[in-house]
Amino acid sequence: MPVHSINPSDGSVIERFEPYSDARVAATIDASHAAFAQWRDTGFDERARLLRAAAAVLRARRRMHAETMTREMGKPIAQAEAEVDKCALVCEYYAEHAAAMLAPEEASSDGSRAYVRFDPIGVVLAVMPWNFPYWQVFRFAAPALMAGNAAVLKHASNVTRCALQIESVFREAGFPEDLFRALVIDAAAVPAVIAHPRVAAVTLTGSEAAGASVAACAGRALKKTVLELGGSDPFIVLADADVLVAAQTAATARCINTGQSCIAAKRFIVEEPVAAEFTALLVDAMRGKRLADPMEHSTDLGPLARADLRDELETQVRASVAAGARLLLGGSRLERPGFFFAATVLTDVRKGMPAYDEELFGPVAAVITVRDADDAVAVANDTPYGLGASVWTRDARRAEDIARRIEAGSVFVNGMVKSDPRLPFGGVKKSGYGRELSRAGIREFVNVKSVWIA
Ligand code: NAP
Repeated sequence: MPVHSINPSDGSVIERFEPYSDARVAATIDASHAAFAQWRDTGFDERARLLRAAAAVLRARRRMHAETMTREMGKPIAQAEAEVDKCALVCEYYAEHAAAMLAPEEASSDGSRAYVRFDPIGVVLAVMPWNFPYWQVFRFAAPALMAGNAAVLKHASNVTRCALQIESVFREAGFPEDLFRALVIDAAAVPAVIAHPRVAAVTLTGSEAAGASVAACAGRALKKTVLELGGSDPFIVLADADVLVAAQTAATARCINTGQSCIAAKRFIVEEPVAAEFTALLVDAMRGKRLADPMEHSTDLGPLARADLRDELETQVRASVAAGARLLLGGSRLERPGFFFAATVLTDVRKGMPAYDEELFGPVAAVITVRDADDAVAVANDTPYGLGASVWTRDARRAEDIARRIEAGSVFVNGMVKSDPRLPFGGVKKSGYGRELSRAGIREFVNVKSVWIA
């Protein structure tokens, strides 16, 4: 069955793609492996030169790449342009630092010398989501290629043009023809790719269900996985916080990428004395977000990426309201073409409601009032997820104590959670395992090899 790209701004079909046959998939993996066999012997200087060239290619055609994202998944164009810039930056970051991050390390032993090498492992399969269709791919690919690996990409079915353009970025930059290849396949074809003997490992960014399925296949084949899954990040506001800045940041953190970000703040956990003030400011800030055509530069909120995602979000909001949550803003789809959903604020959110228990992938803020800081930590941890968290207080020691107690892969104090090439990124609990970015990320897909000399 052909794969469709649908413009979420109006529901029209943009392009149809014929999925690759099994034979073409196998041949592509073999070609990628052949490229790896040469690439593994190139030096870091050459790899870095090409990755810097990829950054230049991205920047040279920034507008075209950004428009492709916006057309296929509805991201506001200014955010799409910023995403292209960030991809260029992560290429330059690893071009600069990979050699030092993977330099052999001397070790003490009973030999005359021992050391640890970090060698490439081969072709890595990347299964990626549509929400940051360039960034998710580049944050994996930049370190993986610098480490000497090759990659095949199974991108989300609604962003196939993005996948093909990313493939051509590496080609235009001068990388070996088959070192980075896109596979146009649907999810059902992934198990066969994982089982292919020339695929060494798998990284997946996406939902819990996809993560569990991919990890099970990889487990059967005894191949390593890194999983970056969903989140329902807490945003804790204590009574001594700068409530105005917290509320404004909260709205931005909730609405980034039209609320479709794994590390978007989703549950706003507020100490009782400032709950009313924070909520009123949050409603103002959410109301101020401009929902419009995502191709306009001043747009804050575009459509959701797919009709089914909009429908699911609406169901979650309705069920929360039916269970007693109070709707202060928005709450439903917009009566216009496309998959638009209004900026929404819910209060009186409690356990047992979808807005408390589940990930809400859209511009819906759930406010939960708590008694004190201990209660806030308990609510923050009362989730199957553990991706990011944000804590707002003027008391630095208290903030760091809370940071220690929060079950998440990252905690930001008085700021919104963001990914930064210099910091490890990833989750605990149902948010997955393994890390991307920084030294931790580049060391995920390497053979940590001990060399001992008598
Ligand atoms: P998704 O349905 O899991 O899709 C992600 C990717 O996995 C797509 O390429 C998809 O292909 C593929 N896929 C789906 N089911 C599969 C299966 N059973 N076997 C193999 N591959 C499968 O996720 P989504 O709804 O697009 O993305 C949103 C989710 O991703 C949210 O939960 C979000 O929090 C999470 N996310 C996490 C991070 C992070 O870094 N932790 C970052 C971004 C997003 P098809 O498109 O062909 O189905």
